[in-house]
Order: sequence, then structure tokens, then C-alpha cells
Amino acid sequence: MTTIDYKEGIRFECQGSGNCCVSRDSYGFVYLSPDDLKRFADDFNISIDKFKEKYCQITDGFVHLIEKNNLNGKCIFLKQNKCSVYKSRPSQCRTWPFWNENMNSKVWNEDISINCPGIGKGSKIKSDTIKKFLKEDFKNERLILKNRIIHQK
Ligand code: SF4
Repeated sequence: MTTIDYKEGIRFECQGSGNCCVSRDSYGFVYLSPDDLKRFADDFNISIDKFKEKYCQITDGFVHLIEKNNLNGKCIFLKQNKCSVYKSRPSQCRTWPFWNENMNSKVWNEDISINCPGIGKGSKIKSDTIKKFLKEDFKNERLILKNRIIHQK
């Protein structure tokens, strides 16, 4: 497995396709950490429990945004191909496409670059910025995993 070389940066600019806001079964669920839940609850001015009750689902102990059958995998917050909760969007959405699991050449070339039209567009995202995203993604995954244990008790 070869890691993507991002020393010279990677061109990326969101093209508003909304593709990253459509799940393909459990791949693509918008998983939420306790920090994400708090940000949402504060922004919606409701308690975390209320937010979870109205907008979340739990699969295998993981909390994620609810999937509605009539939306064909589209995020509940995707409106006219735009994120309607942009200010409080979860870490997973903030760090896309620079996730640790995406940074190997097979995944990047055969999946991410094909499904995300923003890759290769716009100006280069510097390697330091990519590192920050990867660090945030790592931290986010740890928080999500830790939270899973709570929900499995
Ligand atoms: S929260 Fe916003 S950015 Fe994240 S998947 Fe939903 S619509 Fe897309």
C-alpha cells in the first residue's frame, strides 16, 4: 500500500457536487464525535440528547446522522446540493478529502479522485494544511471510537 505523496501539496477545491454528502451504505455515514454533537446542539439551541433523538441514528454503537430512505443516501442536511449546517458541520465534513484512510494511492486514485470532482481543481492545499487535517481526522476517529464504547454499554 503506497501512501500518497503530498509534500508538494495537492490541488483541491470543492466543486459543490454534493458527492461527499451522499452515503454508500455504512461507507459514507456521517459519524459524530461528542465534540460534533455539542457543536450541533449549541447551534440548534437544543440539548445533545434532543439532537441525537431528532437527527441521529446508532449503528454498531456508532452515532451518526440519521439516514432517511426517501433521500437515497443524501445527508439530511444537504439542501439543493449545499450544506445547510455549514457552520456546525462535523469534523468528518471539515477534513474531507484529507482523511487518513484516503491517503493511500489505491483508495485515492480508484475511489476518492473518481467520486470527488474537487480533486485536482483550484490551488494547491499545502502539505502543512493537509497534515493539520490528517491530525484532526485522527483525533476525530479516536473520539468517535471512544464514544462507541459508551453506547455499547
Ligand atoms: S453535514 Fe453538511 S457537509 Fe456534512 S455531509 Fe451533511 S450536508 Fe454534507
